[in-house]
Amino acid sequence: MNALNPSEAKLYLHQLRLVFLIELLTRQYRADMPRSAPTPCRHPACALVLDKPGYCEQHRPKVHRDYGRARRAFDTELGFYQSARWREVRAAFLREHPLCVACKATDRVVAAKVADHIRPLKDGGERFDWVNLQGLCVSCHNRKTARETAGRR
Ligand SMILES: [Zn+2]
Ligand SMILES: [Zn+2]
Repeated sequence: MNALNPSEAKLYLHQLRLVFLIELLTRQYRADMPRSAPTPCRHPACALVLDKPGYCEQHRPKVHRDYGRARRAFDTELGFYQSARWREVRAAFLREHPLCVACKATDRVVAAKVADHIRPLKDGGERFDWVNLQGLCVSCHNRKTARETAGRR
């Protein structure tokens, strides 16, 4: 996994944060409890049994690495979408292309809200070139993103 789109990255981070939160809470909870029974490593593919809840020696670093990677990918993507240059390109593009092209293809006139990268950034699509942009409404953009995400799995 390298470049996550912001919504995927958000979800992944959210899941990881939950895991960490649960681990933290579990640890605090257990601290007040008598010594617990052995529990398996929390990694789904691991059969190792540990004397306290969490990840085994092998999987703990991996989880932290994945978390760091997701965090960095997320920050990078977020940085791009928040950059002044992208905001300018997006605004200028939507001024010139005010209609959703997907809706227009089915004879519906709907305002474009998203300057969508035709070839996604994570597939190496050009970021600022209008040739790689199209105006989409939010629902058409969500459908496209869902299709792309599904195709990636
Ligand atoms: Zn493990
Ligand atoms: Zn549309």
